[in-house]
Amino acid sequence: MTVNEIDKNTYTELWAALNERLAAVEADYGLGGALLALREQQRAAGFVREDLDALNRHRFEHPQQAGRFFSIQYNPRRAQRYAGIGRREPPAGVASLNGGCFLCRENIEWQQDGLQLGYDVRGLHRDYFALMNPYPLMPCHAVLVAREHVAQASPFAHPARELPRLALDLVSLAHRMPGFVGFYNGQGAGASIPGHLHFQFFRRPAGYGLFALESAVRPSTQVPGYPLNTLHWQGEIEAIAQQAGDWLCRWLKRLPADAQPSANLIASRSAADAETQIFVVPRDQRRMHAPGMKGAVGGLEVLGELVFSTEQEWDRVQRAEINYFTIESMLSAVSVPD
Ligand SMILES: [Zn+2]
Repeated sequence: MTVNEIDKNTYTELWAALNERLAAVEADYGLGGALLALREQQRAAGFVREDLDALNRHRFEHPQQAGRFFSIQYNPRRAQRYAGIGRREPPAGVASLNGGCFLCRENIEWQQDGLQLGYDVRGLHRDYFALMNPYPLMPCHAVLVAREHVAQASPFAHPARELPRLALDLVSLAHRMPGFVGFYNGQGAGASIPGHLHFQFFRRPAGYGLFALESAVRPSTQVPGYPLNTLHWQGEIEAIAQQAGDWLCRWLKRLPADAQPSANLIASRSAADAETQIFVVPRDQRRMHAPGMKGAVGGLEVLGELVFSTEQEWDRVQRAEINYFTIESMLSAVSVPD
């Protein structure tokens, strides 16, 4: 047996032992509880440093209309994430899969020296595993990774069949995790690893309340008065996933042949009421960025919280060069009409 084979067995055993423990946590406290336990394990292992308490967040209220707001978080660690972490090259005798994809489990093992472990999540259209995000934007920020290496945009290649399934996996996960928010960022709509299908989930920050998008919802399909064209459904998970998928298919059929469509899907289930909801935001891959913001517009920005990661961006906040209407116009710059 070579050294690498011994390592592989150890990693597989560590993964299995952790999964056995987290499955017991899930049986008692649900999937959200299992993710919180995974975060603690990953913190103890030194892989995740969640120092969100130090995070600067500024809220921008609408001057006349009570309850309307956007927010900006200053998160300089996010700028480091494109540099990547971990090893670039596999050790001798170990193959790098799919160009060293950061979300293929076989690569994660050698890239993170066995430190990053995940939790297998089943019972959905696809199999997934949960990993903790080493650069969190929010508490308990997890990535729900498809077990199979398929592209983030792949559901758009067979929309009638795959988009309702994608939506159902997302809302099913949200349904299993009250108090969490989950999203799918399509290619060119905030996905930072477009090669491998994944969702992101995080726990609602304590005391934050609803996100701007959520508080803009009125009882209708369209969310009125929000700077991004957004559709919304709430109710039984199979029904809302089908409605979201069907809407996207109808939209895709209306687009010109040279369009580069994408989308953000956002799902959550509030702890207070048992209803699960989904937001669908149609996107254009050629408009991933809002003016004045370095990072891409992804699910969190769509919800109404922009992530600033550079000092120059944060200086503009400090100098009061940004207000409610600046953010409204930044978001409307990536809105796609239907
Ligand atoms: Zn992959």
